[in-house]
Amino acid sequence: MSTPVDDGSEEAAAEAADLSPAEAFALLGNETRIEILRALQTAVAERPDDEPVPFSDIYDRVDVDDSAHFNYHLKQLRDHFVRKEGDGYRFRTPGWKVVRSVFAGTFTGLSDAGPFEAPGTCYHCDGPLAARYVEERLSIECEDCGRSHVDYPFPPGGLDDRTPDEFLDAFHHHVRHHYCLAADGVCPECMGRVETTVDPDTEVPDWDVAVVHTCRRCDNRLTSTLGLNLLDTTPVLTFHADRGVDLTTRPFWRNDWCVSDRRTTLLSTEPVRARLALPCDGDVLRVTVDETFSVLETSVDEGVAGPE
Ligand SMILES: [Zn+2]
Ligand SMILES: [Zn+2]
Repeated sequence: MSTPVDDGSEEAAAEAADLSPAEAFALLGNETRIEILRALQTAVAERPDDEPVPFSDIYDRVDVDDSAHFNYHLKQLRDHFVRKEGDGYRFRTPGWKVVRSVFAGTFTGLSDAGPFEAPGTCYHCDGPLAARYVEERLSIECEDCGRSHVDYPFPPGGLDDRTPDEFLDAFHHHVRHHYCLAADGVCPECMGRVETTVDPDTEVPDWDVAVVHTCRRCDNRLTSTLGLNLLDTTPVLTFHADRGVDLTTRPFWRNDWCVSDRRTTLLSTEPVRARLALPCDGDVLRVTVDETFSVLETSVDEGVAGPE
């Protein structure tokens, strides 16, 4: 094996420019390049510090005998996926995203898993809840009446190194952040612009009304209860915090208003107006939203709530 020589010319590496999906796939459609990204990822994970990974460390991890061949492919990755820094290399953000998604499942060795007992009880019949992980989606269902409480994609890396309680907690944060991001107008998949509507003709069984987020960039579409999208809003957080409930840590599926529309009233369809009545500790927070899911009004009624 010849001694690897780094060609050194960082000038060639422009700042990561916009890359179309076709260009990205073309650049990555080569086994050596994928191996280089994988080698960099492993090297980064094994390093005790945050220093760039030396060229020789990456080279030694890739099964290629010819350093010119190696250099050529490393150079192809440099504009968009990796960055040279001193004598070493780091990921650019797109490169990091690629390895994370391409190799997400291969480290865990986990495929389908469950059922596991999930915290909380069924909003409908008070039965026990069970979580299942099937084809990279996590679902939580009532074991007695079968009602679905949530069914959402979850990358297999989320199960890695976590007990069932811990990954259900991670799943809670994952879903909550995705819907709150979408409600703020940002697509959780591609960061593109999201349009949000309140749909009074939803096809979701048992629901009168749903929130639909549609990404204009990648067509990602998220449909959910109104409540799930309110988890991160100040009036809802404060109302609960004042009554000793921390919505950031309480699994969202334990709030019936996040997984069913039983606390939602469709006030009118032209224009669309809907109201949620969220009970906590004997009091009720009412939140009225319009057709774009903007909050129009909130009010608190004390001492009027029935059982939660
Ligand atoms: Zn049930
Ligand atoms: Zn998108």
